[in-house]
Amino acid sequence: MYREKIYDEAIRRIKARRLAAQSQQEQRTDRIYAEIPETAELDRQLRSACMAVLRAAQSSDAQNRITQIERQCTEADRMLRQLLTLHGYPADYLDTQYHCRKCDDTGFVQGKPCECLKHEIGLVGAEQMNANSQLSLCSFARFSLDYYKSLPVEQYQIMERIFQQCRKYAAEFDPVHAGNILMIGGTGLGKTHLSLSIAAVVLEKGFSVIYDSAGNLLHQLEQEHFSRQNGSEDTLSMLLDCDLLILDDFGTEFDTSFTRSMIYTIFNSRINAAKPMIVNTNLDKNSLQEQYGSRILSRLFSACIMQFFGRDIRMQKSLRQNQS
Ligand SMILES: [Zn+2]
Repeated sequence: MYREKIYDEAIRRIKARRLAAQSQQEQRTDRIYAEIPETAELDRQLRSACMAVLRAAQSSDAQNRITQIERQCTEADRMLRQLLTLHGYPADYLDTQYHCRKCDDTGFVQGKPCECLKHEIGLVGAEQMNANSQLSLCSFARFSLDYYKSLPVEQYQIMERIFQQCRKYAAEFDPVHAGNILMIGGTGLGKTHLSLSIAAVVLEKGFSVIYDSAGNLLHQLEQEHFSRQNGSEDTLSMLLDCDLLILDDFGTEFDTSFTRSMIYTIFNSRINAAKPMIVNTNLDKNSLQEQYGSRILSRLFSACIMQFFGRDIRMQKSLRQNQS
């Protein structure tokens, strides 16, 4: 995948945040020094305390001197904050306001990727995905129930209900409580359009969404697995970590023991972590059962199942265009 690029871009954005936070802190400091000159001296005392502690550590009564320096620091800090509050500023106005308090916008906590880095990787990955998919063309507003009007009433009503359910799912989406959806039905019945419409709304809310065909994703996983490039983050971890995973065309991927075990890993991990998925397939329940066996499917069928009806919309569209 473009995985390394995504990683680099996420790191770049987090570093940019850190620089921005530091430069804002410097601007605030300049302003406060000019407005409340006493703060400059207090700040200087605080800054020089580190050096003083280092020097004190080498002296004979190190412990006493360090305790003394710490006491002076606490007092200087208290006075500084008091001065700020007196002048109408928040007490922490001179602190660097990092976006992520866990890692101070470095992206790492004790050498491990911070939550904010993982989140950013998900967002950048999602953006890349948008660039390559028809996301911009698909929205709920562009979805027309007219194409289902020729269906028997009860089937039309089912499609109407699916449309409403998808809108509700997207509008109420949060990664902890959203459930899974399994969309079943032939080609061109609107599964992709509706799942991309959901993706657009969920992305808009700031969550990470990965959308791709099962075939593409499994192919990437396989390439990574057998080439094992150094330093590349796994596509797999991205698939497991994103807030919403949408697997299109499930069942058309190349069927090997590797792809099977990967599918099981993905379904199992996401379901165990209660992370939502939308899975689309052209296969019916029986064919799914035959192809994957009950081990994978028992987990999949606990999802909300949407059975699509209709006639191939792409075909209907092109017929209409030819007639007009
Ligand atoms: Zn962080």
